[in-house]
Amino acid sequence: MQIPRYDTSNKWFKGNTHIHSKMSDGGKNFSEIAELYNTKGYDFLFRTDHWVASDVKADKTEYPLLWIDGIELDGTDRAGVYYHVVCLGKAPTMTRETGFENGMNLAKASGAIMILAHPEWSGNRTEDALRWDFHGVEVYNHVCRWLNGKSSGSAHFSAMLDKSKDALAFASDDAHLNVAEPVFDGGWIIVNAPSLDGENILQAIRLGNFYSSCGPEIHSISYEGKKVRVKTSPVRFIRLVGRNGSGLRNGSFSDLVEEAVFDIPEEWPYAYIELEDEYGRKAWTNTLA
Ligand SMILES: [Zn+2]
Ligand SMILES: [Zn+2]
Repeated sequence: MQIPRYDTSNKWFKGNTHIHSKMSDGGKNFSEIAELYNTKGYDFLFRTDHWVASDVKADKTEYPLLWIDGIELDGTDRAGVYYHVVCLGKAPTMTRETGFENGMNLAKASGAIMILAHPEWSGNRTEDALRWDFHGVEVYNHVCRWLNGKSSGSAHFSAMLDKSKDALAFASDDAHLNVAEPVFDGGWIIVNAPSLDGENILQAIRLGNFYSSCGPEIHSISYEGKKVRVKTSPVRFIRLVGRNGSGLRNGSFSDLVEEAVFDIPEEWPYAYIELEDEYGRKAWTNTLA
């Protein structure tokens, strides 16, 4: 077994990796967004306005939470595939005129974490998720659920895991906070990091030391030899999910559980934890090792 991915010895920080402000098509400014998310217990937010590479260091305003740089790119690549891509980290200045492929290469060269955004809403096929060496995919996008229910990236995540078990799963809001798209706090990530600082959060995300959620909480993930022990908020199911139909579970449709211990089968190419609560809301870890 490889070194476990989850180090849960530090503090958990709640954040959102996909937010739009008035800098693009969002309805609120950074102070208003920060105030709103602060009421829901968020510690950090990424600025991911369309084609606006943010620069949080240049912004001297005081906020009740940490802002971290990002950008969302969209466009059609030379194969004719239409993408939206969330890039986490400081990207060089660019505009829509930069062009999609050029923008993607610039963001990647600057070390950004590249996330395939809302693939179901964009009409991406699972094989589209295997191009561009994305680091991860949105398994859940809250505003797409609000718009037309096409919020899942689970099938794309499975396809990406078949290629590399390092693929990362993200639940996000894609909050716009305007009249047409008012929803927020429906999908987020919880990062385990030594401190609340932009570089530490980015590094923990790169390592996959976070989980995504629409509600359920993970309190700890620990290893005892080849066994993994997971402690959670009360949920219907704690599942160990493997390739295709492989799966183990603790739980039922009638009772709630808060702990599971699994032997991770040697022959599985990957395994991650999925939670499902009594409202059907899910949470996902990245692969465990
Ligand atoms: Zn988008
Ligand atoms: Zn977006």
